[in-house]
Amino acid sequence: IPPRSNSNNDNGQQTPKTQLSHTPSVRKKGVKDFEFGKTLGEGSYSTVVAARDRSNNREYAVKILDKKHIIKEKKVKYVNIEKNTLNKMNHPGIVRLYYTFQDPDSLYFVLDHAKNGELLTFIKKLGSFDMDCTKFYAAQILSAIEYMHSQGVIHRDLKPENILLDDKMHVKVTDFGTAKILEQNADGEEDDRANSFVGTAEYVSPELLKEKAACKSSDFWALGCIIYQLIAGRPPFKGANEYRTFQKIVNLEYSFPDGFPTVARDLVQKLLVLNPSERLGSGGKAGVERLKAHSFFQGIDWDTLWQQPAPNLL
Ligand code: ATP
Repeated sequence: IPPRSNSNNDNGQQTPKTQLSHTPSVRKKGVKDFEFGKTLGEGSYSTVVAARDRSNNREYAVKILDKKHIIKEKKVKYVNIEKNTLNKMNHPGIVRLYYTFQDPDSLYFVLDHAKNGELLTFIKKLGSFDMDCTKFYAAQILSAIEYMHSQGVIHRDLKPENILLDDKMHVKVTDFGTAKILEQNADGEEDDRANSFVGTAEYVSPELLKEKAACKSSDFWALGCIIYQLIAGRPPFKGANEYRTFQKIVNLEYSFPDGFPTVARDLVQKLLVLNPSERLGSGGKAGVERLKAHSFFQGIDWDTLWQQPAPNLL
């Protein structure tokens, strides 16, 4: 595994933080170390390109951000959030940031290449997932959430477009540009509330709409929306416009289609709870354990979840 990116002054040269005095210095990677291939996707101020490290043939996805555009659109803050949160993450279910560097025009983030793209594409292609697949993907997403929360990070924009799939069809959560790193207060406790409005209409939690505050539990609301969508093929709250969608969310106005399995219905009902502190998953470690113990997840071996083969999506 190559060294993680660990410098904030991306000026072309860098040595790892924990370099031992007798080890030869490690030159910082730069654009020339990679052979760039096809474009994997475009964001509003970035392009993601497949790339190969010339020295060892390892494959990556490189997110190239246009500096001028970022400054003009006042997105510097979000780019920094993305870099700082990803730098804290080291989990199989979260896209890993290996290196960062820059040239006069662009910033480069060298990431895991999630070769199978977005979960959303598979939902659209298949219409919906069967219970085995829903359970597996819900468990992997939950495991990734559990990890990021343990690192004091709230994602705040979980949705099937931000859940990528690697070559093993395992989850790689991405898009930490609107995440929040929780600060510890004077007592060494995390202040589990994060201000300012973010998120995508259909997956936004009621507390964000009403109180303009997200907390760890807001990610469990999004998980409830995603589990519903995997089974029903569409998100639970979808209005003719954003305003109607928001109204539906704050009024908990949704219904289950016929045939929605009872055990999944029970779980979704416990996740789509208006009061964030009553939502299944809230309440720290014990809350997450209660969520993982819900009978929907029966049969999931949490200890070997990331070593297991993904069930076939049919
Ligand atoms: P926006 O910035 O507008 O919110 P975005 O977050 O999707 O959009 P990017 O992060 O630049 O923007 O990603 C652009 C596209 O590239 C994504 O839609 C995704 O499909 C693809 N992509 C992003 N990261 C990876 C990756 N690590 N592996 C494979 N594909 C990726």
